[in-house]
Amino acid sequence: MENNVIEQVFGKNVFNDEVMQAKLPKDVYKSWKKTLETGADLDIDIANVVAHAMKEWALEHGATHYTHWFQPMTGVTAEKHDSFLSPATESKPVLEFSGKELIKGEPDASSFPSGGLRATNEARGYTAWDCTSPAFLQEDAAGVTLCIPTAFCSYTGEALDKKTPLLRSMEAVSKQAVRIMKMFGHEDVTKVSCSVGPEQEYFLVDREKYLQRKDLIFSGRTLFGAAAPKGQELDDHYFGAIKERIAAFMKDLNEELWKVGILAKTQHNEVAPAQHEMAPIFTTANIATDHNQMVMEIMRKVAKRHGLECLLHEKPFAGVNGSGKHNNWSMVTDTGINLLNPGKKPHENTKFLLFLTAVIKAVDEHAEILRLSASNPGNDHRLGANEAPPAIISIFLGEQLENIVEQIVSGDVSTSIQGSKLDTGVHVLPVLRKDATDRNRTSPFAFTGNKFEFRMLGSSMSIADCNFVLNAIVADTLEAFADELEKASDFDTAVNELIKREITAHQRIIFNGDGYSDEWVVEAEKRGLPNVKSMVEAVPYLIADKTVSMFERQNILTKAELESRAEVRYENYAKTINIEAKTMIDMAGKQYIPAVISYVTSLADSINSIKAASDAADVSVQEELLAKCSGLLASAQKALGKLKTVTAEAAQKDEGIEQALFFKDAVFAAMNDLRAPIDELEMLVDQDFWPVPTYGDLLFEV
Ligand code: ADP
Ligand code: MG
Repeated sequence: MENNVIEQVFGKNVFNDEVMQAKLPKDVYKSWKKTLETGADLDIDIANVVAHAMKEWALEHGATHYTHWFQPMTGVTAEKHDSFLSPATESKPVLEFSGKELIKGEPDASSFPSGGLRATNEARGYTAWDCTSPAFLQEDAAGVTLCIPTAFCSYTGEALDKKTPLLRSMEAVSKQAVRIMKMFGHEDVTKVSCSVGPEQEYFLVDREKYLQRKDLIFSGRTLFGAAAPKGQELDDHYFGAIKERIAAFMKDLNEELWKVGILAKTQHNEVAPAQHEMAPIFTTANIATDHNQMVMEIMRKVAKRHGLECLLHEKPFAGVNGSGKHNNWSMVTDTGINLLNPGKKPHENTKFLLFLTAVIKAVDEHAEILRLSASNPGNDHRLGANEAPPAIISIFLGEQLENIVEQIVSGDVSTSIQGSKLDTGVHVLPVLRKDATDRNRTSPFAFTGNKFEFRMLGSSMSIADCNFVLNAIVADTLEAFADELEKASDFDTAVNELIKREITAHQRIIFNGDGYSDEWVVEAEKRGLPNVKSMVEAVPYLIADKTVSMFERQNILTKAELESRAEVRYENYAKTINIEAKTMIDMAGKQYIPAVISYVTSLADSINSIKAASDAADVSVQEELLAKCSGLLASAQKALGKLKTVTAEAAQKDEGIEQALFFKDAVFAAMNDLRAPIDELEMLVDQDFWPVPTYGDLLFEV
């Protein structure tokens, strides 16, 4: 009897390999495994048997419905539930689920963002089973639902989701990496997959208080709010002891994640008050992406059970750190070799150096789209704002690898710096071995031992985007390398020459210093590295010629698909800022301004009644406050008028880049102008009059 909760619940709600092996006839199981390994098309007869087994298993676990679970370009997941009830019923219900229903679904494609790929009347879209990501059961108030991870495309075959390009990009990396491995004599490698481990940051606030903040409800972030007397300056929250209420949430969250097979591993308090982090153990990129979407949904759901609200916005509170997501990424062969593992003597590890060179070249040549893959309206508040990595992409390699890079460039490669013993000066402590390299938390793209950590992502994002970009640019670089090396008469000489040439050409992207410093911005400009300051400014790179040809060469996205994605980005930006602006208009007009009017009226009444009671009484404090608050009230009203005007003006702009830029420049500025006087008033007005919970209430009273 398993008595540890992990053993009891782990994978309980997953139609995983073990269940399949138990439920499927042996020959079907074998062909099924073969399909997975070779990536061949799935046979409908096999699909029928798998569907039957899946249905039986789901019914045993109480499922009444199934759904094709997919990831449209909204960034959140979508599901449409169908019960297992068959239409051919008379008196007794017949529960059926066919191979056809398993592999193909037909949701209406017209109501999801398509960026012009689909007209409203062209509604047909298909979901196709991603059989490499296991089906799972979702338990909630709707009962138990069998969720089948799927990709989503249009009637004409264009990708309408985030998963299709991800799957295509994984195939591209595999194809090219296998070619390279063969040249190194690894004939047995038939597949290379991308491994991904995303670290997820989030805030938890009290749900009662959350429900009193329309800004949090509608936009996910506070649009007003003066700083609390205490912020994160004492560094006492990071890794601090976890409060009971939060610990109860984490316990519950872990169990829910384990049930659906998510390898929840690490949990801790983060830098900002009320901020936390969860990291799972890495897995294959598409599964990691599905899991991360599930993590975000389950976090939200579990929080509510504990009277909490989980905020996944990148910047829920001004003045304290926002939330990001770190995407740890590597490539691993089906024979178990991590291609980014440097080994003990990386300077002699040519295979590693070649893959490393490919990543460096790829990131340098396509920095702008990598930056875009980590952009959303929320992350604009973070990137380059002294808490997240800067908006400039650079690569941190660490002392050991940077030293090797220098040796490669100078043409004499002979040593690898080794880790030494760590001297703590305390004899009772064990002797520790130091890593050969320190860490750098200011780098957006850091080598961390045997993987790269892309640290620019925002907390609410799907990790599909950055992974398909990363896979695509690395696949494209590996393809060029493979083409060149396959032609060489002497492989060893050719590969060393290639590494030297490419490392030298792309050395500018390597930076081990402080990425937050002003000096780096100047230095990066000298090096010619792009500094794309905002999401909207990054979008055009998605349809730049070099991007289009790269994605088309790798069969990941066509020009039309890329153009549609650019449209979706502009639209999403404009809509997000529009919602924020309208929420501010609503709150200022209906909550803050009336509250301040009540307060100044009470001040005026008080002045009048005191004066009436005694001519000699000193009412200078009240008068001063009255003057100050009335002045700020007038500023707020004026700023509100301005915000209304520019928001209305924005609606008239041509959709696309023009409108998005107007929202970024004009509307956003007007929003800040409205926030300023209201935040100042918050510090003056009697708290009994203040209509919403404050930063102090939200961040410290969890
Ligand atoms: P740190 O960020 O401090 O290095 P971890 O070692 O826990 O912390 O790694 C962070 C994340 O990186 C985890 O999700 C971990 O599973 C993942 N990770 C570790 N090795 C790899 C790898 N080879 N490929 C992808 N992700 C990895
Ligand atoms: Mg990390």
